[in-house]
Amino acid sequence: MSATLGTLLKQLQPEWKIVVCERLSEVAQESSNAWNNAGTGHAALCELNYMPEGPDGSVDPAKAVAINEQFQQSRQLWTSLIERGVLDEPSTFINATPHMTFVRGEKDVAYLKKRYEALRTQPLFAGIEYSEDSRVINQWAPLLMQKRRKGEPFAATRVPAGTDVDFGALTRQLFAHLEEQGVEVVTNREVRNLSRQKDGTWKVSYRNSLGKTPGSLNARFVFVGAGGWAIKLLQRSGIPEIKGYGVFPIGGQWLKTSNPAIVAQHKAKVYSQASVGAPPMSVPHLDTRVVDGEASLLFGPFATFSPKFLKNGRITDIVAQVRPGNLWPMIKVAIDNPGLIGYLVSELLKNHKKKVDSLRTFMPTAKDEDWELLQAGQRAQVMKKDPEKGGVLQFGTEVVSSADGSIAGLLGASPGASTAASIMLGLLRTCFPDRMPGWEPALRELIPSYGATLNTRPEVAEESLRTTAAALKINP
Ligand SMILES: Cc1cc2nc3c(=O)[nH]c(=O)nc-3n(C[C@H](O)[C@H](O)[C@H](O)COP(=O)(O)OP(=O)(O)OC[C@H]3O[C@@H](n4cnc5c(N)ncnc54)[C@H](O)[C@@H]3O)c2cc1C
Repeated sequence: MSATLGTLLKQLQPEWKIVVCERLSEVAQESSNAWNNAGTGHAALCELNYMPEGPDGSVDPAKAVAINEQFQQSRQLWTSLIERGVLDEPSTFINATPHMTFVRGEKDVAYLKKRYEALRTQPLFAGIEYSEDSRVINQWAPLLMQKRRKGEPFAATRVPAGTDVDFGALTRQLFAHLEEQGVEVVTNREVRNLSRQKDGTWKVSYRNSLGKTPGSLNARFVFVGAGGWAIKLLQRSGIPEIKGYGVFPIGGQWLKTSNPAIVAQHKAKVYSQASVGAPPMSVPHLDTRVVDGEASLLFGPFATFSPKFLKNGRITDIVAQVRPGNLWPMIKVAIDNPGLIGYLVSELLKNHKKKVDSLRTFMPTAKDEDWELLQAGQRAQVMKKDPEKGGVLQFGTEVVSSADGSIAGLLGASPGASTAASIMLGLLRTCFPDRMPGWEPALRELIPSYGATLNTRPEVAEESLRTTAAALKINP
């Protein structure tokens, strides 16, 4: 997020001085690291949670289309940044990987068919395919079909133009370019406090993570892009807008195989329906991953519990966030979400064999010994005050900013990294409203569809999909 915002600001206002403080010894070691997230270029091509069935059985494509629009902004930005020499060869961070959804049972098959019917006429979902035929699905993803029990209804959709993104590599490239442009990216520097000064600037107090030496700098604008720790720093800033917010950490684990014989048989990201109580973005999926040029398969995430808000966080994180203003909303979330608590407990009780059993519902031939367990990143899900319910748990991201726009931070997780461009454009509009008219021409050069939608203009959508696929070399 910080890398995306820094890049946008440097393109718009090259003379501005930007300093990035990173507490770890390298950038992109938390959620944005390739092994800490699933690397799905979230465009709602395969994730069912963006298009749930309504109580009357209807399916509304609006949210799925909106997520797809946001991902197209990322694709357009990355295309411009390749043209400008900011980003390297696209295969170093993005690769074509078909996005599939696979469901079993009559009810889910009927739903998937309806979802396909609602999406196939949407320009941004052009090329989506549907099948209930084992021979067709076998061609798409043979591991799903080998030794599958006969008689059970199943169906799949496939969009050949899906993507796998190494957000860690992307982040490193963006920061490397920012450094070339004179941005100070200081590692081993942990921001400890943010305090408002009389002249309206922010004093950013930090300490060296190794020697613990303290220091500070002053800034007119602060973006708290601290991932799971953003809540802690926003609370310390004392801005009233953060009152009533809390976060609920959900950890994750993957099953991973690098066995070439298995990897060679699967080239797709296959999502399915969530288990009861599962948070939407914890739905396990069987994915091709390409990291540092090497392909492997990941299955997961399995939810775990840790009180830390970052993988390298502190065990006091969950308790230290409690304030009078967010205590009741957080208690209310716990009371209102027994399904989530039950789901987390059931996930925690899964041993290796049980985890591979879950995988076997996707890939019946999976063997315990081929798969190793890997720790994923922490998700810090937003809990917030709600006038009707007292407190709600939400699964998207949310930018919290001060009324004067001098400080903003990002809370929450998915579809975060994929939609970073869109989220940061929103932040620019909130925090720099006076500058926006002047910045808009430059923004349109970077992101041609800025300020307009693609899906409502089929020819423009087709053109954008085609040109960005060619530039990013992700033609299926
Ligand atoms: C299991 C899992 C799967 C996911 N799958 C996907 C996916 O498939 N597709 C997708 O688009 N998104 C996915 N996401 C979400 C995505 O990873 C995040 O939205 C994104 O990486 C967040 O980026 P960020 O820059 O906000 O945070 P981070 O990448 O976590 O970066 C925050 C940085 O701030 C630093 N920091 C924290 N506190 C301080 C401090 N006090 N001082 C200095 N530095 C500090 C941290 O060390 C870290 O480097 C997934 C997340 C998880 C956990």
